[in-house]
Amino acid sequence: MSLPNEAIVTCPGCGNEFDAEVWLSVNSAVSPDLKVKLLSGELNLFVCPKCACRFEIDSELVYHDPEKYIIIRYIPGWGGILPVIEKDDEILRRYTLRIVTSRNMLIEKMKIFDDGLDDRIIEAIKLYYLYGTKRIELISEELMLYLERDTPDDPEIVFLIREGDFEPEKVRVPYKNYVGVADEVGVYFSEASEGKWANIGREYAASVLKRAGILPAGEADE
Ligand SMILES: [Zn+2]
Repeated sequence: MSLPNEAIVTCPGCGNEFDAEVWLSVNSAVSPDLKVKLLSGELNLFVCPKCACRFEIDSELVYHDPEKYIIIRYIPGWGGILPVIEKDDEILRRYTLRIVTSRNMLIEKMKIFDDGLDDRIIEAIKLYYLYGTKRIELISEELMLYLERDTPDDPEIVFLIREGDFEPEKVRVPYKNYVGVADEVGVYFSEASEGKWANIGREYAASVLKRAGILPAGEADE
């Protein structure tokens, strides 16, 4: 089921208040049209009837793919507490469960899973790249996101970096590196498995690379 919520929204442009339908959850099997809107950034996008200002409602959102057994929750201002799954919840225990802290990260996860990739490996690759190019301090987590899987003769994983006012920059990583990273750090993925909520981002990838001995342990460790 996909859930709309009747709400009163306030236009950030002119302060006009009007009734609108805000989507709080999207089920990809039931509402593929909503999934398309979400991916293109058009879900919960409104036009003020008074001043024609276009704006997006930044509310909590749950994405559910019952075919791939995936649930991704976007929680604005998430406080770091992971919900616990009841032991007897047989359905959720089969799921890949993710919490993300921005709408763009939710869309990124959708693309990663739709493309048959593992987000834990994707996050590890980002760290390899950012440390390798000495840009780790410059590119915050939100600024480097998975874009697509390109499959010419030599398949590639493509990321997009949006840094300040610069043109978005595409970073292409050969798919064989994805396989290599999976081999190298895959055994250190322990704590994020099916049936457990996890926030898989930079912090997670850093802890994996530390356990693998690739990044020095120390400083802000878990
Ligand atoms: Zn307005």
